[in-house]
Amino acid sequence: MTTELSQMSHDELSALLDEQHSLHAELKAQGLALDITRGKPSPRQLDLSRELLSMRVPRHAADGQDVRNYGGAKGLPEIREIFAELLGVDVDHLLAADNSSLSIMHDLLTFAMLHRLPGAQAPWFGQNIKFIAPVPGYDRHFAICEHLGIEMIPVEMGEHGPDMDEVERLAADPSVKGMWVVPMYANPNGVIYDEETARRLVSMKAAPDFRIWWDNAYALHHLTDAEPAPLPILQMAQEAGNPDRIFMLASTSKITHAGDGVAFLASSTGNLDWYLKHASVRSIGPDKVNQLRHAHYLKDAGGVRELMRRHRALLAPKFQIVDSVLKRRLDGTGIARWTHPAGGYFVTLDVLDGTASRVVALAKEAGIALTPAGSSHPLHDDPHDRTIRLAPSFPTEGELQAAMDGVATCVLLAAAEKLLG
Ligand code: PLP
Repeated sequence: MTTELSQMSHDELSALLDEQHSLHAELKAQGLALDITRGKPSPRQLDLSRELLSMRVPRHAADGQDVRNYGGAKGLPEIREIFAELLGVDVDHLLAADNSSLSIMHDLLTFAMLHRLPGAQAPWFGQNIKFIAPVPGYDRHFAICEHLGIEMIPVEMGEHGPDMDEVERLAADPSVKGMWVVPMYANPNGVIYDEETARRLVSMKAAPDFRIWWDNAYALHHLTDAEPAPLPILQMAQEAGNPDRIFMLASTSKITHAGDGVAFLASSTGNLDWYLKHASVRSIGPDKVNQLRHAHYLKDAGGVRELMRRHRALLAPKFQIVDSVLKRRLDGTGIARWTHPAGGYFVTLDVLDGTASRVVALAKEAGIALTPAGSSHPLHDDPHDRTIRLAPSFPTEGELQAAMDGVATCVLLAAAEKLLG
């Protein structure tokens, strides 16, 4: 399509509406059941690491501890060494835990609500604290704040991170205590935070108990030959004189198995001691059998990088399908823009203002499940009703092709309806 919808006459728009209505009716008649809601690895991706299910591992780790028993709160050195190298942190500043980094993020926030963080005058509970929430962002980050009654202040994302003038202005308020950051291949728009943004984040004036949840969930999840190293953010925070500012999180959820991987927390010694003090009340130690299994399976940092290239071979064609269908159906219409991420798990599709919810509803009628409109904003409130997150990893290529074609129909249909009033 080459004519922008906003330039079309009433008759042209009516014809377009009729055409998309019949395409939508055809879709409904097909009885589709397609799902591009969540960034789950596909069965083929999970099968890359199927060896994990049958591996035999020794009973003892390299340092002699019996992995079947309680204890070892910091995690096994062999798995921590591999990921310290990959994440650009000192092994002494990295803990290995159970399977979910999201649960560590939740714990950190809950602990900070109930117990005084290093630098804090009091626990956060009962204070009117706020978090900076770059938008669009990750719905589950926002859900943690919502669940704990923490106010979020949205800040628009730019090409290399959020609007930093605004972030600095907000962080200067002592009741602003935290910020969500996905620094590489951000969920959902694929943005990579650049070094200048990172330096400003670790240097800016903020409360002594202000922390950044630096969620490196996609640090190794490249979709192109460029494989940029993660920023050495702990070192940068140290150099800026704010060594406690960063909680870095990561996991093997999208490296090996999302349901039985290993999660990591990297931070200053003061923060880690504080975390372990409270985490040790909650658990007598992580699953070290799984950590040892992962260390033996992955072998070293090179082993992880190699495995990630095999994921890329399965994922990159799916991202190409999303792009080529959107291009074919929506290029030149002036009603849609989408991202071209170089890594991560998502594409952000911005549709005509005021139509995202309608697109999601139309897609649902046609048997295509999309992440609910508004999910990428705190409290599900996308003020422009514009942003839709697409997650191409799980469906097969054929299913994805069909789903994206259906989504494009819904985008055009919703826009034509809106423009015709
Ligand atoms: N962080 C981000 C940005 C994510 O997109 C996801 C999953 O989609 C997670 C964390 C979940 O991590 P984990 O599986 O380690 O709990």
